[in-house]
Amino acid sequence: MPEGPEVRREADAIGRVLIGKKIAEIFVQPACLKRFARRLVGQQVVEVTTRGKALLISFQNGRVLYSHNQLYGRWVVVPKGKAPNTNRTLRIALTGDTHSALLYSATDIALLDENDLETHPYLRKLGPDVLSKTLSWRQISERLCDKRFSGRNISGLYLDQSFLAGLGNYLRSEILFAAGVSPASRPKDFEPARLNELARRTLLISLRAYKTGGVTNHPDTVRIMRKAGHPKGQYRFAVFGRDKRDCYRCGDKIRRITANGRRLYLCPSCQR
Ligand SMILES: [Zn+2]
Repeated sequence: MPEGPEVRREADAIGRVLIGKKIAEIFVQPACLKRFARRLVGQQVVEVTTRGKALLISFQNGRVLYSHNQLYGRWVVVPKGKAPNTNRTLRIALTGDTHSALLYSATDIALLDENDLETHPYLRKLGPDVLSKTLSWRQISERLCDKRFSGRNISGLYLDQSFLAGLGNYLRSEILFAAGVSPASRPKDFEPARLNELARRTLLISLRAYKTGGVTNHPDTVRIMRKAGHPKGQYRFAVFGRDKRDCYRCGDKIRRITANGRRLYLCPSCQR
C-alpha cells in the first residue's frame, strides 16, 4: 500500500499540471458521481494536497474530489490524449489544457464540499499529518506522551492513522530501526531524551522518504551502494524486506516478525 510520502508525490505531480488550470473534460467511473462530476467541467483546480493517505483535489467552486488509494489504487499523470498501457480499471480522468490525471483501481472516491472535510469518516479520525510543514518533532514527542498513546506498543501505534497520519508499514520498520527502538516497547517506558530521539527520527525518515521517492536508508550507505552499481531495490531500505541479511550498522542479521498483523523487520542488536 502506498504510504503518505508516495501519495504526496502523486499529489505534487497532479498539482504541477492541473493547479490554476480549468478542467476541460472529466470521466468518473462510479455512476453515482457522474452528475456531480459534470459540475466540475470548466472549474479551476486550486489545490492538490494529501491528508494521510487520502488525496484531495480542490476546485474553485469549493468542491473537493477525495480519493484513497487503498491497496491497489494509483494516480498517474500523462500528456493529454495519451493513456498508459495497463489492464487496470480507470476510475477518474481529469483533463486540463495539456495533461490528464488518471486514477486507476481505487474504489474509495467521493466528491465533497470543502465544509464537509472535517466530518468525513476517514478524514475526521486522522492525527496530524507526518508530512505537514507545520509539524515539529516536539509535537510528535508530546503526542507520544499523551495518555491515549503512551501505554500502547509502538508497533501498533506506528500504523494507527489517528496517532500520525501518513505512516505505514515500511515507514514503521525504517523509523523504529533509525531510532533504535524495539517494536514491543511502549512510549511510557522511555526516558524523555529517548522519546525525543524517536520523535526526531519519525519526522526525519518520513520527510526523507518524501524527498527521495521512498529511499529511507542512511544517505552515506545509499551513496556507497549507488557508486558500487547496486539498484534502488537493494539500497532503498535499511531493514524493510531485508530478512536474514546483514545490518548495515552492526552486521547482525535482520529479522522478520509479524506485528499487528503486518510484517515488520528489525535488527535485534540495534533495536532494544
Ligand atoms: Zn544492527
